[in-house]
Amino acid sequence: MKKFGKVVAVMMTAMMVLSGCGGASSGNTGATNGNDTTGNESGLPSKVVVGTNAEFPPFEYIAENGQPDGFDIALIKEVGQRAGFEVEVKNMDFDALIMAMETDGIDMAIAGMTATEDRKQQVDFSDPYFNASQVMIVKSDNDSIKTFQDLKGKKVAVQQGTTGDLMVTEGDESCVVEGVEVKRMNKGADAVLDLMNGGVDAVVIDANPAEQFVLANDGKIKIVTDEAVNEEYAIAIPKGETELKDAVNKALAEMKADGTMDKLAEQYDAN
Ligand code: GLN
Repeated sequence: MKKFGKVVAVMMTAMMVLSGCGGASSGNTGATNGNDTTGNESGLPSKVVVGTNAEFPPFEYIAENGQPDGFDIALIKEVGQRAGFEVEVKNMDFDALIMAMETDGIDMAIAGMTATEDRKQQVDFSDPYFNASQVMIVKSDNDSIKTFQDLKGKKVAVQQGTTGDLMVTEGDESCVVEGVEVKRMNKGADAVLDLMNGGVDAVVIDANPAEQFVLANDGKIKIVTDEAVNEEYAIAIPKGETELKDAVNKALAEMKADGTMDKLAEQYDAN
């Protein structure tokens, strides 16, 4: 099988040279992550290394078998199947994902990542695949925090480098409340733990993971929603990887149209 793949790859390369088309293996684009064999007709890489941060249920988490699973993981594997590339998932810190794409450590990232204007300066995004929003988590007996403005003067834990972090970070253009004492954690779960232990008054985090954390700590913490700040999750792809982005978008569009996306959302409780 492997040998066959190599033969096909050589043939594909030869064909690309003959036809003069660039393909993913032309130039130092990073899309092939050092693996410049092609496994499909289009010249896409045969294997794509996808970065994630498996600390964000239900989108990505470590399953009982020790492997990353979740809505995003299932989604990207299905995209790979449709586009004709194998997916290798690489788990890393959330705030390292974009840098890893710039240094060729990964070929793309799926991590419940909001397609923000700021990130668009550094990477491209696929078409959006999920509508999200930010909420607060507080202790169940807390009746004083009802809006984001109520976080003023309070201690708030966030996951470092997330949009929730930026919402309470003074000076950032997406800051909605100033005067917050922000504790930045590597994992959303650590932020929630700090809340449970009384280290902070609230956590700001995406709505779906918030639901999962509340469910896992039944009765002790609750969600507070303010006016929704709408965000869209998309797959981050290095700038200039048009062929890869087009293939991903094509698969996403198919999956939206044929009901696969809804099925996955139901399966992983990502509604
Ligand atoms: N959606 C948020 C962001 O993009 C959080 C993502 C995450 O923590 N995995 O910043």
